[in-house]
Amino acid sequence: MFQIPRGTRDFIPEEMYKRRYLQQRIEEVFRRYGYGEVQTPTFETLELFTAKSGESILGEIYNFKDKGDRELALRPELTAPVIRCYIDRLQMAPKPLKLFYFGNCFRYDRPQKGRYREFWQAGCELLGTDTPEAHAELVALAYTILKNIGLQNIILHIGNLYVIHAMFAKLRITDTDKKDLLPFIDKSQFEDLFSALRAIGLSQTDTEQFIDILQTPDLEKVAAYVKGNEKAEAEIVRLRLILTLLKDSFGITDARVKIGIVRGLDYYKGLVFEIEAPVLGAEKQLCGGGDYELVNLFGGTPVPQAGFAIGFDRALLALETEQFTFPTPALDAFIVPVNETALPTAFTIARDLRSQGLTIDLDLLRRGIGKSLKYASTQQARYAIIIGPKELETGTVTLRNMQDGTQTTCTPNELSAQLLTSRS
Ligand code: AMP
Repeated sequence: MFQIPRGTRDFIPEEMYKRRYLQQRIEEVFRRYGYGEVQTPTFETLELFTAKSGESILGEIYNFKDKGDRELALRPELTAPVIRCYIDRLQMAPKPLKLFYFGNCFRYDRPQKGRYREFWQAGCELLGTDTPEAHAELVALAYTILKNIGLQNIILHIGNLYVIHAMFAKLRITDTDKKDLLPFIDKSQFEDLFSALRAIGLSQTDTEQFIDILQTPDLEKVAAYVKGNEKAEAEIVRLRLILTLLKDSFGITDARVKIGIVRGLDYYKGLVFEIEAPVLGAEKQLCGGGDYELVNLFGGTPVPQAGFAIGFDRALLALETEQFTFPTPALDAFIVPVNETALPTAFTIARDLRSQGLTIDLDLLRRGIGKSLKYASTQQARYAIIIGPKELETGTVTLRNMQDGTQTTCTPNELSAQLLTSRS
């Protein structure tokens, strides 16, 4: 027996049906917002990811040398590949450029519920604009996708990295100390943060106030804290405008300010946001995104960039946990040729109905009617089409409603109309 690699999953048909349904629902919304799909390779040069995230990413990446001695890596995310593709092929495209993707990602993470070594992300990149309305639309898109797929309970947090940096500057915290402190902020480990801030010499009052501002949903309190820092003040005006647009133009009334969002990444700059599904417990983060600078880092012509990534597997898990009713696969009809003589007619009818877009299966095991009908039930067939000697003689078929067991006789030509009208 071979074992599936740790942290990976097989998806059987009923699971794939749900996954494809969800993928389609997500992609639909991206398209409605004017985004076009891009697809990039599953592996890239390792350097693409170390350039973006530093050598520290090596611990969580699947990298290898190919037969030509090239250092490659399975992609851990899709922003860097999409930006590489943009620089290769799309720099001259009219702006703003709206790109979305759906694809598998690989991380050498410690597997648990909602955390896998192969998982899927649906996300997008917006290039060429950083107006407040562009950012508001981006946040609204992420939120709308998750609401549109049917999630009842999600929480949207919005922050701004310039504001955090102003907070550090206010307390004269050095860059080296900042690097050590950011992971605590990122993981909301405020007790550890408290000790670390005290250890670098901050007073108890300063420490408590700093931690309070990181968590407060009150933007005016944050504004008062960073008053006097011009950049931070301008960013707060922007954030206020984005929140107003979200409320008044996109109908999103429950966006919450959280300055303590740092996204753990160096290349983000202003806006940052996260969406979580509390129902998921520990691995509740569904989506993360913001305003970043990668194009210049990768050698392209500087251009405003922003984007987000949704954890597809977690979105599915959250829906399942909220007891969402997914549509289930069903056959329009299962054809039962009662004997071998009926087989050619059965196949002709199947071919005709399939060509009209109906989902049709037929007995391939030469089973009797009883067993065939039982099997048809397990396949959620709505109807059975029975073809026996009597039917062959009269050029008709017996149409059996699998739900209530009622049977009618009709000609093969009448079948598709019958099956289509009873579909809804
Ligand atoms: P990130 O690129 O780290 O911001 O991740 C974006 C989203 O992908 C997260 O919010 C999660 O929903 C999802 N995600 C990240 N890592 C994993 C993983 N190992 N397994 C499943 N989903 C993940």
